[in-house]
Amino acid sequence: MDNAGPQLLTQSEELRRRALVRTPGGVHSNVRLSGSQEFIKCAQGAWLYGVDGRDYVDYLLGQGPNFLGHAPKHIIDAVFEACRDGVVFGGQHELEVRASELVCQAVGWADMIRFSMTGTEAVQAALRLARAATGRTKLIRFEGHYHGWLDNVLLGQRDGQWGIASAGQLESHLADSIILPWNDLRSVEEALDRHGHEVAAVIMEPVMINAGVIEPLPGYLQGVRELATRHGAVLIFDEVIAGFRLGLDGGAGRYGVTPDLATYGKAIAGGFPVAALVGNADLMNRFGTGEVNHSGTFNSSVMATAAVTATLTSLLENPPYERIAAHGTALMAGLRDIGTERGLPLRVSGLPQAFHVSFGDAEVTDYRTLQQLDLARYESLSRVLVDNGIWVTGRGVWYVSAAHGQRELEAVLSRFDKAVSEWVAQ
Ligand code: PMP
Repeated sequence: MDNAGPQLLTQSEELRRRALVRTPGGVHSNVRLSGSQEFIKCAQGAWLYGVDGRDYVDYLLGQGPNFLGHAPKHIIDAVFEACRDGVVFGGQHELEVRASELVCQAVGWADMIRFSMTGTEAVQAALRLARAATGRTKLIRFEGHYHGWLDNVLLGQRDGQWGIASAGQLESHLADSIILPWNDLRSVEEALDRHGHEVAAVIMEPVMINAGVIEPLPGYLQGVRELATRHGAVLIFDEVIAGFRLGLDGGAGRYGVTPDLATYGKAIAGGFPVAALVGNADLMNRFGTGEVNHSGTFNSSVMATAAVTATLTSLLENPPYERIAAHGTALMAGLRDIGTERGLPLRVSGLPQAFHVSFGDAEVTDYRTLQQLDLARYESLSRVLVDNGIWVTGRGVWYVSAAHGQRELEAVLSRFDKAVSEWVAQ
């Protein structure tokens, strides 16, 4: 006898059913095609609250932007207050001057800035500027480094070969890219010896966070800096993740190497959609003369520049970096302890502000060695972590915010322990 009766959908299932009718895959960014199916009702501090009543300690931070936690009151208030007097003017306004000054002050080495909405756009502006300034076309870039989703930068790997990552992506747009393993100075030297006169830019994440939080080997960034200068190529640091997260001066400051251009996003604006390109006046002024085009209806909107101004003011006046490092360090140690207690080859590596959790014990210095870890095993664990109220993705990169404190540490460690025991028993 079938006595199950009609199945009631959870709110998430019902929302997902509706979403799938109007939205391909039910999501508006392909990055979210995998991951938890629970819809989010709201978020506060380091916590996410699902529509079906579950709570999550958040270590994804919206893929990075919520560096000050979710809905930081002083930033939300500043943005709402500023927007009451208009959002986008098609003209200049004082807040964008203030925001520009603050970013350049925080970054330290850069003279000028142009805002955009997304990291993807800021990277495009950097590449165009580098090509204009050098009169060259080729780019040197690195395996596993992400610089946005457009045709000329999106990279995928098939049968060990790097190339397009999406149907519809023009293969010809990657023709100017020289793709090298990262952290290998010799390969940069060789590529520049051979192609130096054609190379407009060398672009990299100064610390490879996207794929798995890998630090530059001692001397590597300095070596690339010297080589780029010697060959007249523009060195671009893509600091979209590292910027303002590792410190006010990002990866450049942490490793003591100054690029010619740098892109920022995510942590720059307390969760609001803002990105920026910064650089020295001689390069950046090419936008100012009109020689190089960089445009965008929403660039430096009141929302964006109020968010940047409030975020940077807060970071400068009340730097959260020590607190974040303390939480991250304790969390990394706590996760390792759980792995050891359970006899698992759990690997927790990287930086307290952003670290990588996986299985295996390979020495990881680049994307190739990262592949030697058992990434699939962590992905399987990550689903159980989410079920147990820890908001992470299967990629294994965890971000720590200024809102993570002792309460969150206790919650995440006990949830992690419980999740691991459930997962081991599966
Ligand atoms: N560069 C890096 C290093 C990134 O991590 C990202 C996004 N994860 C981007 C560029 C693209 O930024 P956005 O998603 O804002 O376009």
